[in-house]
Amino acid sequence: MNLHHTHPELWHSRGFVPHFDKPDAIQAVTFRLHDSVPVDLIARWREELGWKEGSNDEALIELRQRISKYEDAGHGECWLKRPEIADLVQGALLHFDDERYRLLAWCIMPNHVHVLIECREDWPLADIVQAWKSFTAKAANKLLNRTGTFWFREYHDRFIRDEKHFANVVEYINNNPVKAGLARSPEKWPYSGTPGTAGILPASEGFPTSSGDFDEAGGTPAVPGDPRVPGDFSRTLQFHGLTLRRRSTQILQVNTGKLCNLTCMHCHVNAGPKRKEIITRPVMDRILAWLETTDIHTVDLTGGAPEMIPDFRYFIEKLRALPQVKTIIDRCNLTILVEPGYEDMAEFLAGHRIAIVASMPCYEPANVNAQRGEGVFDASIRGMQILNQLGYGRLPSLQLDLVYNPNGAFLPPDQRELETDYKRELKEHFDIDFNRLFAITNMPIARYKSWLKNNGKLEDYMALLRNSFNPAAVDGLMCRDTLSIGWMGEVYDCDFNQQLGMQWRNGRPLFLWDIDPSGLENREIALGDHCFGCTAGRGSSCQGTVV
Ligand code: SF4
Ligand code: SF4
Repeated sequence: MNLHHTHPELWHSRGFVPHFDKPDAIQAVTFRLHDSVPVDLIARWREELGWKEGSNDEALIELRQRISKYEDAGHGECWLKRPEIADLVQGALLHFDDERYRLLAWCIMPNHVHVLIECREDWPLADIVQAWKSFTAKAANKLLNRTGTFWFREYHDRFIRDEKHFANVVEYINNNPVKAGLARSPEKWPYSGTPGTAGILPASEGFPTSSGDFDEAGGTPAVPGDPRVPGDFSRTLQFHGLTLRRRSTQILQVNTGKLCNLTCMHCHVNAGPKRKEIITRPVMDRILAWLETTDIHTVDLTGGAPEMIPDFRYFIEKLRALPQVKTIIDRCNLTILVEPGYEDMAEFLAGHRIAIVASMPCYEPANVNAQRGEGVFDASIRGMQILNQLGYGRLPSLQLDLVYNPNGAFLPPDQRELETDYKRELKEHFDIDFNRLFAITNMPIARYKSWLKNNGKLEDYMALLRNSFNPAAVDGLMCRDTLSIGWMGEVYDCDFNQQLGMQWRNGRPLFLWDIDPSGLENREIALGDHCFGCTAGRGSSCQGTVV
């Protein structure tokens, strides 16, 4: 689909190349130093190619290729060659990751920068790029003891059309230093990567905390407590003489995408009704084909709301037909079962013996509605009553487990005591039965991290998680035996790493079909400070507490 033609209202131009600005879109952005490609040279190429605003794609592609080639030849002062300036820019890209955008890949070349981001609603691409450029220009000029223009005023952006386009762009970004003769392999270049793979840690002081602060010059960007940069958590494991490596894979957790009928405050996926990222049938077919070659016994479907995926029923039917898959889990938000159009979903799930793990953060209406939205408590109760009528929570073959998570910046209380309270309250007031309660710690990422930050609680919460580190929880962490994949088939150690973009790599990003299921044991697990969320207190996993 060419969005230039189907959505002309979303395209606009700043006089050089057309831009596409759309919330939740994945965008590849390139911006460069002001002296990297002379303006009159670009004007000459434009004339030669006959390219005008909004005109044919071929001329635009050729124009971009000429610019890229010229950039890679390393013209101009190339200030980004200097480690302190590259650190500065890398820190700026990382700083608002997960808040204004999701950083998917980046590469800082000597005279230009490539970034791949998923935009967040309320943060237009132009504002994001302006914030990066404005802050780094002032800080870099200060470090260089110079004044004047630093960045070229324009930037290029490309809207990512599909999975193939995405893979090509990531490949291009990672390989740019190799292509330009600056590194032998992408891993050798210190200023590129995907979150969690940054080669160089940014310095630690003086980074602005809002776009307004970008007007203040000075300071080196920092990423205080950046949960993706390996450091404290790895050192804590080391200190306790512990290692964290994979065992044989028992569970395949498939994140079907970000589409959801709710927008909960604690959501680590940033899911919502407007999200477009969902798993497609071709990806499902590749997962099914891969699963056939394994003896994985459990498939755990999460989201978003998996039931909203157009091919959800197709996927369930095909999974059920795989003889080695004994358990299929649907992580259900309950309210979807009473949404118009989904009235027969509970029956479908029961008919296929799907185990349900349902979010229910409290048995008190006010707490549930505060965390998940007005009316969610009543809809959840109705959803559970429908499931009970079908035998869920009552027949041995129809498992119904509930998930509790705190509605504030604290750790879950004792899971067993809480389960007793839940069972008593839900039975007494609503005649509801369920099997187990899983108490899960809120992870300091995505929407919950923003909530913590906006309420001035992020640092205290991180300190609480760190101070509650429990070495006994490490042995049972879910990343040892669960493989997590995203809606495009990307592979991660867990759903949290997935939301932080910590995709497995082997010189290039890896997808499920690149993985040999028999060769995963003892593989290293990608860690960050968010892992403290899994080891705090009694530990936390998708199956509740760990110890
Ligand atoms: S927490 Fe679950 S139900 Fe709530 S928005 Fe996120 S995916 Fe949807
Ligand atoms: S967040 Fe938890 S499950 Fe994921 S890698 Fe870290 S410790 Fe393992």
